[in-house]
Amino acid sequence: MCHDVLQDPTFFRFLSQIDHEFAAETRAGRCPDCCGPLHVSDYPRKPRGCPASVREEYSRRLSFTCGRCDARATSPSVRFAGRRVYLAVVLMLRSPPGGASGQELRDEFNIPASTLKRWRTWWRRDFPSTPFWQSMRTRFMPPLAIERLPQSALERFDGDAMTERLAQALRWIAPLSIRRRSGNPRLAA
Ligand SMILES: [Zn+2]
Repeated sequence: MCHDVLQDPTFFRFLSQIDHEFAAETRAGRCPDCCGPLHVSDYPRKPRGCPASVREEYSRRLSFTCGRCDARATSPSVRFAGRRVYLAVVLMLRSPPGGASGQELRDEFNIPASTLKRWRTWWRRDFPSTPFWQSMRTRFMPPLAIERLPQSALERFDGDAMTERLAQALRWIAPLSIRRRSGNPRLAA
């Protein structure tokens, strides 16, 4: 099931649409520093974990700079998890819960064992310490099993199709995809 999602260009294009909506909102909000106009200033990316047919549209992380003071304004993303080369959806579906062996997963995407281990640590230790999670955790009843993140979160979103739940979960963590002025430990590389 998960395998199908990661091979499905339609789903990846749907995520692009969401990112473009986020970007439009960011641009409409103008510069956070001086309220000046924002100009397109995307970051080039070389993502891993998407079908070849969408690689072109996944080669840019939507972002803006202010035409007046040059400040950056990057919108949240359901596609890119901070500076990671692997896409957020891969981080969501390929962070094995518990002590699961990563052997099979590594074979599929060539994700190094050390990377999978880092992702597990991020979900279990760094993510629960974010202000984002601190403000969010009481909304889950019964409480989410931290040791089973992100799967335990994914199971709580509504939708018959895996793609629906996944899109909601990615929207949910999208605030972590950008640098917060409050110093959120974000989805860094
Ligand atoms: Zn500005």
